[in-house]
Amino acid sequence: MKKDILSYSLEELVTETEQLGEKSFRAKQIYEWLHTKKVHSFDQMSNISSALRTKLDEYYCINSIKIVRKLESTIDNTVKYLYGLSDGNHIESVLMEYKHGNSLCISTQVGCKMGCRFCASTIAGYKRDLLPSEMLLQVYMAEEDSGRHIDSIVLMGIGEPLDNFDNVVKFLQIISFETGKNLSLRHVSLSTCGLVPKIYELAEYRFGLTLSVSLHACNDKKRSEIMPVNDRYHIDELMKACRDYINKTGRRISFEYAVIKGVNDTRSDADGLIRLLKGMNCHLNLIPVNEIKERDYKADRAALRTFADALEKGGLNVTVRRTLGADIDAACGQLRREYEF
Ligand code: SAH
Repeated sequence: MKKDILSYSLEELVTETEQLGEKSFRAKQIYEWLHTKKVHSFDQMSNISSALRTKLDEYYCINSIKIVRKLESTIDNTVKYLYGLSDGNHIESVLMEYKHGNSLCISTQVGCKMGCRFCASTIAGYKRDLLPSEMLLQVYMAEEDSGRHIDSIVLMGIGEPLDNFDNVVKFLQIISFETGKNLSLRHVSLSTCGLVPKIYELAEYRFGLTLSVSLHACNDKKRSEIMPVNDRYHIDELMKACRDYINKTGRRISFEYAVIKGVNDTRSDADGLIRLLKGMNCHLNLIPVNEIKERDYKADRAALRTFADALEKGGLNVTVRRTLGADIDAACGQLRREYEF
């Protein structure tokens, strides 16, 4: 099988080209063709000798993904892309417009094995991890198709990013590299359901990104009911890992909380959250739960307001996330790897 050349960092590409008997500056040229000029074939690399182009073509492929369907919201400027991968699998990305610029929500796996009860992405199960190239291509294709510059990226689409740790780290390194997209990791958010050992591991990289942690409940009993991952890593272990992350990176954590009517929005839930998060260098992002057809979870805007007020009075730093792309099922937890036309 040919090697996936778009997934290599420049450093790795230098090693690869050296193995082909080439000087290291060649790697830099090839890398530029791939990540700045974004060519689709080795033939387009006009400053590379035809002998080397033939060799590259023999050992490597330039991965590609196709836009299979594109849905545009009529309420806001949200665009949802359904991408077809080279092996026939599908994933989704969502392009959103905020005051500070365009943000792209990308997928990190085909499907998801985490099983959160309220989330559509996990319903059809897990197929495979995405390669770094497939995460990059979601960004490159969305920019090319929309003509909009992507200012920030959120790893909050289908999949659990920390369950595909090495490929996600590689993606972060390539997307922030000076040759190519050159996106500061300050403009990247990574969301996890709470894979504790991987939170410790991520902290060691000291990326400037924002870590979002999907909390959704303030005690183990409730959290385990809606998030099976909580049986593996209880809230106290999760909080310990979060504190370690804050200490090591100096970055505050953003906790995500999908507010579900009658499930996690009572006064005692608010009190529990205040006890859990008060004094921590963090921010709490409330999301009115997005409805999915397989479950009976409902949002209640009035109750959410009361809930948010109680949390604020309790001293927490709270925001309510705007729902974008609701008319095209592009909101949090609504993305799927299976599609119907
Ligand atoms: N696996 C990662 C990232 C994907 S989900 C994680 O769990 O964090 C991105 C965010 O959307 C998470 O906070 C997730 O819990 C939330 N989410 C999932 N389904 C939702 C729904 N139906 N309504 C609102 N938020 C949801």
